[in-house]
Amino acid sequence: MGSSARRAAVVLLVAVVAAGACTGASQRRTASAESPSPAASVTATVSASPTSISSPTPTAAPAPTKPAPAPTKAAPAPAKPAPAPAKPAPKPAMSPPSAPIPVAASGLAGRVVAIDPGHNGQNYAHTAEINRLVDIGNGTKACDTTGTAARDGYTEAAYNLDVAQRLASLLTGAGARVVLTRTDNNGWGPCIDERAAIGNGAHADVAISIHADGSTTGRGFHVIYPVSLPGLTDAIAGPSQRLAVDIRDAYAAGTGMPYSNYIGRAALDQRGDLGGLNLSRVPKVFIETGNLHDNTDAALLEDPGFRQRAAQSLLAGLQAFLGGR
Ligand SMILES: [Zn+2]
Repeated sequence: MGSSARRAAVVLLVAVVAAGACTGASQRRTASAESPSPAASVTATVSASPTSISSPTPTAAPAPTKPAPAPTKAAPAPAKPAPAPAKPAPKPAMSPPSAPIPVAASGLAGRVVAIDPGHNGQNYAHTAEINRLVDIGNGTKACDTTGTAARDGYTEAAYNLDVAQRLASLLTGAGARVVLTRTDNNGWGPCIDERAAIGNGAHADVAISIHADGSTTGRGFHVIYPVSLPGLTDAIAGPSQRLAVDIRDAYAAGTGMPYSNYIGRAALDQRGDLGGLNLSRVPKVFIETGNLHDNTDAALLEDPGFRQRAAQSLLAGLQAFLGGR
């Protein structure tokens, strides 16, 4: 990666992740994508009210209630064409993104979803703790990593939590039960093994870990699913691959973020070195929602409107998976 010297402030945060990758594509990248923590106590069942988080997003079609003004009034003068035609009454947006999904129709009522916002805001200040090695089933890996950050200092840890909370709100509004691996950005961890344990302990129907990458080159998103490891992930490998495809398709359609042009194939990547996947007993994927080191992607990820669309897309992907298996 280029000279990191110029970004003094950011460097501190990103230091541990040196090369930047959030989950690291190769084994050398230790950390990234996962990281769970201390106490299972972090697990929090989100009881959010459906509306609490909904905001920034677009706008459900304004108001179909307002019929075009003119029909009743015969145009007084032929010369003066009805004023309105040019400006069609606001037509209902095709699919109001923020419209809550009726619980009964969501297919999510009673389903349990584990959401893992990668990293944590204070990981960088707890290097000893997050560098502790934990068992990931086929080896060991650091408890957690700092995650990456955009060039302006916007951190992946904050981004991950924001998208996770938006998604949690949408899910609970649709009748699902949500378990988060962390609910604030002010601590460290949990370690990656514990993040997986939280989803397992909740007997989640599905789990998703939310990240943004820090690749020195390229842009776009990709979804990571587990290789089939005997005795570890063999039972979830198949469903997790289907989940990866559902999440990829929904995220691409809902956000317009392009497929990664630097890793994976068609935005899909399979790995056996992530504890968060190796230790999961429920179908699970990681999504690297964009590359924070790319200025175009970073501008998108830093936009609250985009983050809401990202959350809505993930909701759609989870619905497709849960409704289709
Ligand atoms: Zn990450």
